[in-house]
Amino acid sequence: MNYPAASGRGIRSEIYYLAASGGVLDPLRNKLDTQTKMDDKNSIPPSCPQCGATWEQDLTCQDYFHQMLFWEAENSELGEVHHLMVLAYSLQHPSLYSSQGLENAMGLLVDFLVNGLEPHQVGVNMRAVVDAGKRSWTITARLDSQGSYAHPVHWPVTAAQVVAGGPEAYCQNVRDWAGSILKTLKESGNLS
Ligand SMILES: [Zn+2]
Repeated sequence: MNYPAASGRGIRSEIYYLAASGGVLDPLRNKLDTQTKMDDKNSIPPSCPQCGATWEQDLTCQDYFHQMLFWEAENSELGEVHHLMVLAYSLQHPSLYSSQGLENAMGLLVDFLVNGLEPHQVGVNMRAVVDAGKRSWTITARLDSQGSYAHPVHWPVTAAQVVAGGPEAYCQNVRDWAGSILKTLKESGNLS
């Protein structure tokens, strides 16, 4: 693994460790068997307050995130877009970041999609992705350090659509998802 180890482990092992700690089960198929994700299912709103994705059948964005991790763990070829997936997911849930972390994450998106850099080439900035991957598992982010966008954003593509596309189209769909985020951030004036 070539990923820089911001916290002593590479991003890939970090994420897979977390995924494994939750049980290596297909998240969608096993949703109803898992009672740990939400304390009160009746409180789940119909759509994500952060990215706007529709939440159907009690599935939330965190479930979609788990599903994508599951596909990547199941098929290593899908892991080649892991960095884009974590970044895309986190950018659409900016409260996972601190304000500075959100800035760094937008810079990473430009590095990957515009400058053509690979994860092992971005050095210390990868820390932002690692932190986001870890913090996305925390239900409650610290209110005093949440990142947010200066201008309102409407996301045309969310994790829900990527998951709906299935594992066969996963890599291309993740790339398209990341590309749509870059475009949206620019058009909304949040990224120059
Ligand atoms: Zn969401």
